[in-house]
Amino acid sequence: MSIDENWIQKIALHSPRRMSAQINSRPSSSNSGTNEELAKPELLAKLDDHVARVTDGWVLANEDGLWTASEDKSVRLYLRRDNDQYWPSINHFMPVQPTCLFYCEEVHRLLVGLLNGHVFVYDVADDCNSLRQRQHFTLHAGPISGLYLSITSELIFSSSRDKTVLWHCSENGTRQGGASIDSSCVCMVVAQPFIFIGDYGGNVHVLRIDGSVAQHLHKLSAHTGTVTSLAWDNDRQWLFSGSADNLVIIWDIGGRKGEAYELTGHKSRITKLYYGAGKKQLFSADESGKLMIWDMSAARIVTPAWATSDTCQLCEAPFFWNLQAMWQKKVVGQRQHHCRICGRAVCGSCCSARTTYPPMGFEIPVRICKSCDENMKNHSERYNLTPLAVGHDIRTGVVGLHVQELNGRMVIVGQNRSILLYNIKNQ
Ligand SMILES: [Zn+2]
Ligand SMILES: [Zn+2]
Repeated sequence: MSIDENWIQKIALHSPRRMSAQINSRPSSSNSGTNEELAKPELLAKLDDHVARVTDGWVLANEDGLWTASEDKSVRLYLRRDNDQYWPSINHFMPVQPTCLFYCEEVHRLLVGLLNGHVFVYDVADDCNSLRQRQHFTLHAGPISGLYLSITSELIFSSSRDKTVLWHCSENGTRQGGASIDSSCVCMVVAQPFIFIGDYGGNVHVLRIDGSVAQHLHKLSAHTGTVTSLAWDNDRQWLFSGSADNLVIIWDIGGRKGEAYELTGHKSRITKLYYGAGKKQLFSADESGKLMIWDMSAARIVTPAWATSDTCQLCEAPFFWNLQAMWQKKVVGQRQHHCRICGRAVCGSCCSARTTYPPMGFEIPVRICKSCDENMKNHSERYNLTPLAVGHDIRTGVVGLHVQELNGRMVIVGQNRSILLYNIKNQ
């Protein structure tokens, strides 16, 4: 894959939220348009023996088990025993609270990132009963927010709230390179030679690694809240970003047309994303406990850019900052809204209708203009409203989410300290 400045610029220009001067509220929607009853993930186990908050979870593919990291400084490996109960076979205490886990099952290597910016690397014994420390890196000044081990390139990547990303040789531990951005790194995805960083300010940074330096290719700015999680579809080279603004944006990095898609299915802050390449499913979870599983094999329509106008593009009523027109027409200025389907800038009374529109990612009802509403009613055959995502209620805010497609397992770390293990083979 090669990325050049031009098309990535186009992506940024396309961003539907690029006109940040607008005053908009997200549409409040009443009922969910998705079918909550379709093929629920089957809860296999609920581990609630943690006394402190759990910060991360990682489910295994080849064993029936999972890793947890907790504010009580523990890193535990739970395995299913003969009585079907999950018990820790490893209960290892770190010097400081762990914030982030990465496990490479192929080589039994565990990476643990800590609150103080340290990273520990362990070899896990074949019998899964013990850890042996391999490396200890102390180079970050803030909490670790992302870890990645590449076996083929022998590199360990770490991102931190201290605004830096570093890479080290996984064999001899020497520092190979690093980069810094202008905001706190909240999440990271590595698709060599690229590193994508989600930041506190709502941007996604695209870096290209070239030896010891990383070229800062671009900043994708469309979210209006912190980017909390990233995921990558290597086949299509799509980047997914989830944010505190409740939105998931799909950046078509590989398509080179600068296209971006939106997924609207959450009503609260998105906390975690996971992309399952096998079934082309995107998992997104939020802090109110909603899990969405999106069908990413479905054809989707690009989200329109939002138009700028000083008057309603349907009835010509002036918006409230258009003082001249308000004076001339002797009318009260209107608040500006945007039709989610056509992107027109319209007044409240011209876009009072709400609908779901799954091909455009709207799985919960969003605001649409009078004109689109009429079109949808008169030409219903052109608008397929069949949901392209399934929603589930996890009943606790989601802190961590990890999926293994190979054995159909999903682990969810809840805000209430519980760890939930699901069978998702039938999803
Ligand atoms: Zn109007
Ligand atoms: Zn419209």
